[in-house]
Amino acid sequence: MTGSTLRDIAVIGGGPAGLAGAEMLAEAGHRVTLYERMPSVGRKFLIAGRGGLNLTHSEPPASFQRRYHPARPLLAGAIDAFSPQALREWCEGLGQPTFVGSSGRVFPKSFKASPLLRAWLGRLDAMGVRILTRHRFLGWEDGHLLFETPEGRIALEDRPTLVALGGASWPRLGSDGAWVPILTGAGIAVSPLKPANVGFTVPWSDLFRDRFAGTPLKRVALRLGGETVRGEAMVTADGIEGGAVYALSRLIREAIETRGEACLILDLRPDLSEDALMRRLATHKQGASLATRLRKDAGLDPVAAGLLREAAGRALPSAAAELAALIKSAPLTLLAPRPMERAISTAGGVAFEAIDTRFMLKARPGVFVAGEMLDWEAPTGGYLLQGAFSSGRAAAAGMMDWLDEAGPDL
Ligand SMILES: Cc1cc2nc3c(=O)[nH]c(=O)nc-3n(C[C@H](O)[C@H](O)[C@H](O)COP(=O)(O)OP(=O)(O)OC[C@H]3O[C@@H](n4cnc5c(N)ncnc54)[C@H](O)[C@@H]3O)c2cc1C
Repeated sequence: MTGSTLRDIAVIGGGPAGLAGAEMLAEAGHRVTLYERMPSVGRKFLIAGRGGLNLTHSEPPASFQRRYHPARPLLAGAIDAFSPQALREWCEGLGQPTFVGSSGRVFPKSFKASPLLRAWLGRLDAMGVRILTRHRFLGWEDGHLLFETPEGRIALEDRPTLVALGGASWPRLGSDGAWVPILTGAGIAVSPLKPANVGFTVPWSDLFRDRFAGTPLKRVALRLGGETVRGEAMVTADGIEGGAVYALSRLIREAIETRGEACLILDLRPDLSEDALMRRLATHKQGASLATRLRKDAGLDPVAAGLLREAAGRALPSAAAELAALIKSAPLTLLAPRPMERAISTAGGVAFEAIDTRFMLKARPGVFVAGEMLDWEAPTGGYLLQGAFSSGRAAAAGMMDWLDEAGPDL
């Protein structure tokens, strides 16, 4: 990995994966040009920082690695090689120290992505990385890389290339998945792109929708297929979204794919046992209305009580035992994931079977792939960015290994 012969290298895609790969290649002395279709790089990275840039997570390596699905030894190796700790040190090296939040998530102290990206681009510039924006990669033709630019099409002589074109969520930020036919056309296996970390549609009654769309559902636990997640969700006009839903979104999506719908179980009082809840509901004052019992005895806020009525699909039971059971296990039918445009990330992508242990496309030697365009998914919590950074660096390391092995006559 010494990069004994210095090369002209193309990196395509200016998200964290492409930028991380470009940095490593330039550090080794290669002449790197990064091509980006948008007028500026790192747009999704900047949006990720909007509510606080959750760069990575502080949990122990074994549980950290279990967040990635399906388990990919190659990606796990990349995360071992450029670990969450290494990412934090890298960030600190750019003048942006990090801290661990109460949930174990890691953020820059500034909380923002923009100072980090600015410092990073400054470093890349100092290293000689050339960034050409408004260059949309169109594919390969007759030994050339083709780009659409404001001046028309250009063809670049083929060269070692790292592609990191992202998934297809939030396409207005640049990653639109238009690369899929380019790669499949070149004989590369790509698993269908699907929305991940996404909300789902729920057939709310008009009454519930009108009253509660936009209302957060606080301190709930959601269950599906043996997995339970505590957290918050948000009622929307069409359904439900938010952190706790995203954490289960792969399981929900898979249930919908097999059965046409998913039955999510909500525990609206996860901090109370069913017994304790039943005792509270049984000691109500004579004549107290059901609404009062739900509010005062069960401690449900209006949206939770409304959701209970939606889940019951009929009149609520008045017996304490039945009511407590429903509060602890309210079933909610989810019909479909919200569209890709609204998803935080994308599942599916370039099949791991299509790349070798250096992240190089078997069908196109000299072309390496990294980031969200590979077929892995992970929940929010910093795992997505960590996967993008680590795979970007691993693909760059793979390219340098390959160049060393190929020698100067390549
Ligand atoms: C709202 C939101 C919040 C998020 N928050 C977090 C978070 O807090 N923590 C976390 O870990 N993750 C978060 N993510 C996810 C994270 O931002 C992505 O997983 C990450 O940016 C993926 O990096 P990437 O480099 O693989 O792809 P991208 O960042 O998507 O970059 C790919 C780049 O390739 C360019 N490109 C695409 N096609 C072409 C082409 N044909 N030619 C040239 N260039 C092209 C695109 O314009 C883009 O700049 C969030 C995402 C969203 C949408």
